[in-house]
Amino acid sequence: MSDALSTPDLPLVTRAQLAEAFSRLGVAPGDVVLMHSSLKSLGRMDGGADGAIDAALIAVGPAGHLLMPTHSYCYVNNDGSCAPYDPAASPSRTGLITETFRNRPGAVRSGHPTHSVTAMGPRAAWMASGHAPGGGTFSQSGPHGRYVRLNAKIVFLGATLAANTTYHAVEEWLALPYLPDAPVQVARPGRAPETFVVNRPSGHRSFYRNSGLNLPNPVTEALASRGLIRPAELNDCVLLMVMARDVIRVTTEMELESPGALLCRQDSCAFCELGRHHCVRQREATRRLGLALLAHPEMCDPSHPAAE
Ligand SMILES: [Zn+2]
Repeated sequence: MSDALSTPDLPLVTRAQLAEAFSRLGVAPGDVVLMHSSLKSLGRMDGGADGAIDAALIAVGPAGHLLMPTHSYCYVNNDGSCAPYDPAASPSRTGLITETFRNRPGAVRSGHPTHSVTAMGPRAAWMASGHAPGGGTFSQSGPHGRYVRLNAKIVFLGATLAANTTYHAVEEWLALPYLPDAPVQVARPGRAPETFVVNRPSGHRSFYRNSGLNLPNPVTEALASRGLIRPAELNDCVLLMVMARDVIRVTTEMELESPGALLCRQDSCAFCELGRHHCVRQREATRRLGLALLAHPEMCDPSHPAAE
């Protein structure tokens, strides 16, 4: 890879240094790790994206699992045009590390046409299963439910919690009423492209720090104020780690306390204002779903052992 040559004034980050940073963050052999990442944040990474992936695999060890979002966003456009999702060919739109990861030998990508997850590890195929094109975008019986039940650590390598897909999983599991349906297409060998309808986590949220609206971010602040976001540094790169079950619990509790908790409160944001109105109207249904979720320690208590 040429990445290591592009900025010669920065110190070269080796695989061993990055693996050690993951360990300081709290990643241990045997862990299930979901990683959101920015290669640029590392400056000069020895081996580029592959080097960063190697380091994460070293940290989780041969018994552990590494997962990444490899979202392809294969929605059908307004004019009907679409690049149908093909797990073997559709590029990942969530960064060079993830695009490189999905092409690694042994990596298994899930079947969802917009929000696929790619896994490596002894049970990668099982990790990536249960994510069919017409099913939930963040189905509890697919990768998102599996990594929560397995007590995954969510790592942000030079990324912020604005990239935290698991917030959207909670939105889907609570059936929040501001998530629209959207058509997608899937390409399967020897067959004409098939159309499905999926839940699309579009629109605005308060946790998109880079939205340009410069809004406060109550959900990330709630996690941080409880001491649930662990940092580590490597040169100028900041790594963050949060337990998946902490995200589920804190976000669910916030939604039950204040309907539309993930939406912003800016007067000019019509999406969030309307979304909150709908959340208030269906708050009893949300409450039933939320209390059922909170009643399962394997979904919301990191001190509870990993479960399948
Ligand atoms: Zn908004």
